[in-house]
Amino acid sequence: MHAWSIPLTTRFRGLTVRDGVLLQGDAGWGEFSPFWDYDAAESAAWWRAAREAADVGWPEPVRDRVPVNVTVPAVDPATAHGIVLASAGCRTAKVKVAEPGQTVADEIARLEAVRDALGPGGRIRVDANAGWDVGTAVVRLALLDRAAGGLEYAEQPVPTVEDLAALRRRTQVPIAADESIRRAEDPYAVARAEAADVVVLKVQPLGGVRACLELAERIALPVVVSSALESSVGLAAGVALAAALPELPYACGLATAQLFTADVVAEPLLPVDGAIPVRRPEPDPALLAAHAADEALTARWRRRVEEVRARA
Ligand SMILES: [Mg+2]
Repeated sequence: MHAWSIPLTTRFRGLTVRDGVLLQGDAGWGEFSPFWDYDAAESAAWWRAAREAADVGWPEPVRDRVPVNVTVPAVDPATAHGIVLASAGCRTAKVKVAEPGQTVADEIARLEAVRDALGPGGRIRVDANAGWDVGTAVVRLALLDRAAGGLEYAEQPVPTVEDLAALRRRTQVPIAADESIRRAEDPYAVARAEAADVVVLKVQPLGGVRACLELAERIALPVVVSSALESSVGLAAGVALAAALPELPYACGLATAQLFTADVVAEPLLPVDGAIPVRRPEPDPALLAAHAADEALTARWRRRVEEVRARA
């Protein structure tokens, strides 16, 4: 078991450093990196994903590259423009909205800047992280759809499945469910309620590549694979899922290695011409040593692994 800790280039999900554990099995390396606000019960799925990677490996890919989106945080228009231009050819941008303290004018300016940088052929989606109520979302999405020159979809604009379903009947913008799948008691409720047009799947919180493939088949909606901000060892599982899905009509949210200041593999899973080539990088021993967690953090991870194992 190797515990790692790597600073991020920008604050993300309130974090400035990301850490986790890598384990090696017969099939290769797996990553276990639940966020620290997840308890042992919620981390069990993350553990299953790590064990699948290490013990069994992943199904065969049906494609050799996975188109990915660039993520634009709640930044000013000039910064947003620059992020898109520096995105290694990504033709889809995911723009964060519903940021506390910002106005609709801020969001419109950001979307106009992103459209300008992408050109007319690019696709733009927004992610509100459940930040609106239904009434606000109806008004806001109409304005943002116009500012963006057409939105591909809006990711988790409102908190609950019921809200998503109600909003979907009142907006022309397609709806994607993220938190309503990943942190839900019942991930199938979204499909039953006809609450979304697209679902976002993340390998670790949903228990592995095979679990996600089964979920995708049963939900029968288009899938966007996103990362949980993993090192390239963990990201490889997301790439494997995206590569194994029968259909992949949307760019995936897997271009997150660029948010890390370093990685545990020599060649991180970064996009080339807007897509990540499908491969499974191995950790580099020198990089594992260079980014090893200190003693206290390693002990903390060991306790966490024992806790999750005890429940498995
Ligand atoms: Mg999201």
